[in-house]
Amino acid sequence: MIAIEYFFAVIIVVAVILVFAWISRSKKKQPSNVIPLHKRRGVKAGILQECSRCKKRLPLTFYANDAGTVRGLCKACAKQIGKREELYPV
Ligand SMILES: [Zn+2]
Repeated sequence: MIAIEYFFAVIIVVAVILVFAWISRSKKKQPSNVIPLHKRRGVKAGILQECSRCKKRLPLTFYANDAGTVRGLCKACAKQIGKREELYPV
């Protein structure tokens, strides 16, 4: 009987370790995704940047496409590109 309890205790410990390993791994991934966006937001609040498409210095909105590429687009370009492909506001 003691052996069975020990067996279950080991399973629970292993399960807990696996859950913690999984959580810490998914947490580590986040900063690399989040930091660039914050940096871009900071820049956005400051000087006007060139639009990725027409190269005019206008207030930009940042969009990511399906490939994960982030581009700063002025309103006109965002409208035109938005017709061709999915744009996700950053
Ligand atoms: Zn533009």
